[in-house]
Amino acid sequence: MRIAIIGTGVAGSLAAEMLAGRPGFSVRAFDRLAAGEEAEAGTGLNIGPNAMKALRLYLPARHAAVRAASLPWKRWFIDTAAGERLADIDLLRVAEEPGIRLRWSELYRVLRAPVAPLTRHGARFEALEKAADGRLRPIFRGPDGALFDEGDFDLLMGCDGRYSRLREITAGPVTPRFFGVALTRLLVPDAGDAPLDDYGQWFNGHARLLAFRLPGGAAYVAGSVPLPTPEAEVPEAWRAPGYQAALYEPADAPPCPAVAWMCRMIRAMPGQTHWARLQESPILRHTLGGRVVLLGDAAQGMVPTLGQGATQAIEDAVLGGAVLAAGGDAAAVAALRDPRVDWVRRFSVDSTDTMLRADPVEGSRKKGQEPYLSRLKQLYTAIPEGLTRV
Ligand SMILES: Cc1cc2nc3c(=O)[nH]c(=O)nc-3n(C[C@H](O)[C@H](O)[C@H](O)COP(=O)(O)OP(=O)(O)OC[C@H]3O[C@@H](n4cnc5c(N)ncnc54)[C@H](O)[C@@H]3O)c2cc1C
Repeated sequence: MRIAIIGTGVAGSLAAEMLAGRPGFSVRAFDRLAAGEEAEAGTGLNIGPNAMKALRLYLPARHAAVRAASLPWKRWFIDTAAGERLADIDLLRVAEEPGIRLRWSELYRVLRAPVAPLTRHGARFEALEKAADGRLRPIFRGPDGALFDEGDFDLLMGCDGRYSRLREITAGPVTPRFFGVALTRLLVPDAGDAPLDDYGQWFNGHARLLAFRLPGGAAYVAGSVPLPTPEAEVPEAWRAPGYQAALYEPADAPPCPAVAWMCRMIRAMPGQTHWARLQESPILRHTLGGRVVLLGDAAQGMVPTLGQGATQAIEDAVLGGAVLAAGGDAAAVAALRDPRVDWVRRFSVDSTDTMLRADPVEGSRKKGQEPYLSRLKQLYTAIPEGLTRV
């Protein structure tokens, strides 16, 4: 079977590694970026223990490589902005191994390295032609502006992210669902003096900061603030660092040291904050009668509340790849993945309650207790074993 993988981000790199070199499979991958361009990618992220379990079971060498490039994510605590502890979860109570925290550029570097020889870089997927026998011919544009192709493929894997061109061409434009929350992220490169380490969250009303240290002395600081309506754009005034920082500072008490430090960084780094809006897009696993399989954000843009976007992209690629490697088709990938992704998405949206409507203090306390902990355990451990031999 000749397979073309469109996009070598999180899902595409791992899907290529799962299938390359297996008898009966010929894999070619394409990405619009030049080789090594990942150095510019994003800020930091945390990846759940469930993705690490999937890697451990099916791609142990990649599991070891991402562990080596990251810090362990062992704990999740929730405080008020004034420093009152609301929840403190030891991840090993609800998972079989820690999650990880690392820089985006490092994740991409580690995942892309093993599939570099079968990847064509500087190949932006633009269009699709269908041969008389049903096989598909993806058309790419190179850095010089010229169109090219590499012939017909039996299966295309759409791993081209949230704004997937392959999904758009084969199933129409995606209509995202917005929830009315503005998101920010900031990388502080030199965070030597930061009074924080593992994954923490700090609430000031519904406004919330989230932060953790990254390898190499950096720290990741993310914010979320409710918008006036679900569809509202981020007001321009919020982008001013002084205004933004003030959203997280309690009116009636001094901020705890971690919040004071994060607000100082927000003020000291104008123009460095990336803004987004909390959103998700409907799940779509395959198109064109199963000739196209979608993985990761191309299949399921997720709200980032539980840090499950890249985490589910990893599950998708590893487990979906295992199904295909064992002879399954697009429908078999959907049968395995869609119920799980749907469950994770509902749990992620439920967990957004304290950022929007629910009392952030009481709601956060509940996250450190049953039944929330049982849901977390299900999230972090429910990875099927034995789908195919490694
Ligand atoms: C603010 C924010 C914070 C987040 N934090 C976390 C977190 O902490 N933990 C977590 O698990 N997830 C997080 N996520 C989600 C995460 O970013 C995505 O879910 C994840 O990157 C999806 O992986 P992917 O492989 O589907 O897509 P991507 O990683 O986006 O990869 C897509 C690839 O396709 C390529 N591509 C795109 N279009 C084309 C084209 N036309 N032709 C060829 N190549 C193309 C791109 O160059 C890229 O290499 C966060 C997201 C946001 C917005």
